[in-house]
Amino acid sequence: MLRQKWQFLFAVVLVLSGCGQWRATALRWPARINSMQGFDSSESSAVHTVITSLNSQIGLSILNISGGTGSDINIRFVTSFDSEVAAASHVDYAYIKMPGRGIAGTRIAGRATLTAENCLIELGDFIFNDDELMQAVLWHEIGHCGGLQHVKEDGEIMSPVTKPFNQYSSDKVQRFFGDLLASIGEKK
Ligand SMILES: [Zn+2]
Repeated sequence: MLRQKWQFLFAVVLVLSGCGQWRATALRWPARINSMQGFDSSESSAVHTVITSLNSQIGLSILNISGGTGSDINIRFVTSFDSEVAAASHVDYAYIKMPGRGIAGTRIAGRATLTAENCLIELGDFIFNDDELMQAVLWHEIGHCGGLQHVKEDGEIMSPVTKPFNQYSSDKVQRFFGDLLASIGEKK
């Protein structure tokens, strides 16, 4: 009898730990974005537009850029991605296809470093040449801040290789919204 109980408990733990493609995040939501570094005014305004559009398209204010104190998500403009990574953190990259460049023809476009305290999003300078690409990369990294991991298949917002936002179909965008809301524990 005792042994059966333990087997049942073990099965429950397996199911709980194995389900879902997200990981627990300690960030509070709506997440406060009060730290932006390295942007000029037009880049900063582009980032604000993308954040505002995520809130309005998802139909819920999950990102708060209206001031206040403290910051859950910090966003930084970078010209290169250094290898310095905070201890005890999850680090995820977004790549874009760039024939003839780097490993397997990809280039790092963005990086999210999620710690217990906050999430740092780094955006590569070159993505600001294309508003649609910047939007896809920023949404992808916000997904990581929300605890989402990569989707193995191509063509999803959370696929490791991203592409300009207007190349995603609406069902891919809806999947991203559903996964993100489930991961951060919000409901519309
Ligand atoms: Zn990623």
